[in-house]
Amino acid sequence: IGVTNDEEALAKAAAVNADSEAPTIFDKIIAKEIPSSIVYEDEKVLAFRDVNPQAPVHVLVIPKFRDGLTMLGKAEERHTEMLGYLLYAAKIVAEKEGILDGFRVVINNGPGGCQSVYHLHLHVLGGRQMTWPAG
Ligand code: C5P
Repeated sequence: IGVTNDEEALAKAAAVNADSEAPTIFDKIIAKEIPSSIVYEDEKVLAFRDVNPQAPVHVLVIPKFRDGLTMLGKAEERHTEMLGYLLYAAKIVAEKEGILDGFRVVINNGPGGCQSVYHLHLHVLGGRQMTWPAG
């Protein structure tokens, strides 16, 4: 699946996101107002390289339609389909990056979880031996 830039989808994303909490820098990345290194994109999600990578592969997977999901702790039953799709997209990213044999998916939630951007996102990390416990 190639990179898409569906104007209608972007307009919908902007409308839905504006309806919830304040926009974040990720809205600008979705709208391509800020450039990012895109690894995977479809009508539901965008995956791009983290600007401050913590592993040789460090990709963020975000929903285009945030729909109130500033953080996992705000999840409602209506979000379950998107939450499942985000995990599937993480697997697609791992496959594209050649790290299916060993990778980690992380969601930081809230200040105590070290979350800094309040638009739900999955970190996909790999390309090195991961250690446990995570810090
Ligand atoms: O989980 P947390 O909210 O801390 O993760 C946000 C991530 O977004 C950070 O890893 C940060 O490096 C990344 N980021 C980015 N591009 C931006 C702003 C933040 O990749 N323009």
